Amino acid sequence: MTAPSGNDAEIVSCEPATGAELWRGPVGDVDAAVDRARQAWSTWAAQSLSNRVELCRRFANEVRKEQENLAALIARETGKPLWEARAEVEKVVAKVDISVRAYAERSAQRKFDSALQGTAALRHKPHGVVAVLGPYNLPAHLPNAHIIPALIAGNAVVFKPSEKAPATGELLVQCFHRAGIPANVVQLLIGGPDQGRALAEHDGVDGVLFTGSAHTGIAINRRLAGNPGKMLALEMGGNNPMVVWNTPKISDAAVLAIQSAFATSGQRCTSARRLIVQGSLYEPLIDEMKRLGSRLIVGAPFDEPQPFMGPVIDNEAADGLTESFVYLLSNGGRPILHMRRLHEGLPFLSPAMIDVTDMAERPDVELFGPLLQVIRVDDFDQAIAEANRTRFGLTAALVGGSPEEYNQFWANVRAGVINWNRPTNGTSLSAPMGGVGLSGNHRPSAYYAADYCAYPVASAEMEQPRAGMGVGLRDN
Ligand code: NAD
Repeated sequence: MTAPSGNDAEIVSCEPATGAELWRGPVGDVDAAVDRARQAWSTWAAQSLSNRVELCRRFANEVRKEQENLAALIARETGKPLWEARAEVEKVVAKVDISVRAYAERSAQRKFDSALQGTAALRHKPHGVVAVLGPYNLPAHLPNAHIIPALIAGNAVVFKPSEKAPATGELLVQCFHRAGIPANVVQLLIGGPDQGRALAEHDGVDGVLFTGSAHTGIAINRRLAGNPGKMLALEMGGNNPMVVWNTPKISDAAVLAIQSAFATSGQRCTSARRLIVQGSLYEPLIDEMKRLGSRLIVGAPFDEPQPFMGPVIDNEAADGLTESFVYLLSNGGRPILHMRRLHEGLPFLSPAMIDVTDMAERPDVELFGPLLQVIRVDDFDQAIAEANRTRFGLTAALVGGSPEEYNQFWANVRAGVINWNRPTNGTSLSAPMGGVGLSGNHRPSAYYAADYCAYPVASAEMEQPRAGMGVGLRDN
């Protein structure tokens, strides 16, 4: 949570669950950080791959040593429960081995011999200096998911964490430095949108690896439109559908829908935003979800028993979400679970569900919080059409249905992650993760991050020149 500060050149981070100030620091100097990175990157790129990998493995060890501190810091800075912050730290550690494997599979050197033509070789080169722009919701794991593959490939990184999670970003970067990765090869740049913009546009930056909202991603895309040579990987939001169809397992379906919509207080790019339900399942499913939803513990990160979900990131976000709920309500929505502010002055929200079946115009926006819209449909084609009624395309899930129905769903729904009888936010670190439409620009992250961290170079090679002209010559 960012508190208003008397000094524009300062970032202040406050704990969403208490309002207490957690961290304060001056914004960084973009030009200086990029200059240092430019000086550092070629030495880093010239190191052997095994050295870079070894240093990344040492980073994983440093994170292991700090795991409780890092988890506690993430929990305090984002408001998410401690159990969930611990799971985020596990992902930071796991990222290293997965990225090493991904680099070997997707960017390894290959040679294709052909006796007379020499050798055709394929190798990959790093871009140079890349900017990593991070979001607040998984403030360690998501930037790290760009940083590790970028380092392995031989890039220098300037990392600007979200202005709402600078403390987490700082500790992450300290772990890189303690592991022995040179200070100028991974740098922390503190700042907000202004520093993000200046960094993305900087001539000394060869690639921009962004995770955040579609609004910001589109703005960056526009500003870089005249510069097609700069690598731009956009991981953006979603308006993700879950379809519940043709299943007797109502309580399992209800749990999957609740987990999809409300884990991390709905602040996941992969969260379910729209629940599309077969008419005949509507009543039992919604009753079960109401029952479960009203039992969810909403609380502070370190409460015992541990809460299911914490507050949203700040009061501005909480106000925006309650306003969105009221908007849906006053435009034809029928409340199932009302959205309530649970603490005056702090951004704790109750999980909310609203039936929007009868709304004439449903806004196709990402409502980034614990707010699930429910739509009732009568046939499967209509369910698929509803699922596709969005400009986004990040995740989608079918709960229930036959294998044939899942095949139809998979073939016709437009999204980068399509799950069956799993939550919308159940994604694997060993698979690519990205979306279509407003959710991304066809540069999926996670396992495929290796692809945007290096570019392929094809070479035809022979140890000695050997050439002759077979046709087209006049006799002497
Ligand atoms: P955001 O877009 O507000 O900010 C993301 C980052 O961009 C921050 O570091 C911010 O300072 C920076 N920024 C803001 N304006 C900028 C500009 N004009 N130029 C350059 N940088 C700028 O996102 P957020 O609110 O921090 O994160 C939540 C959003 O992220 C949600 O929309 C969510 O769906 C999305 N997200 C996507 C994924 C994914 O993998 N697809 C994962 C997590 C979150």
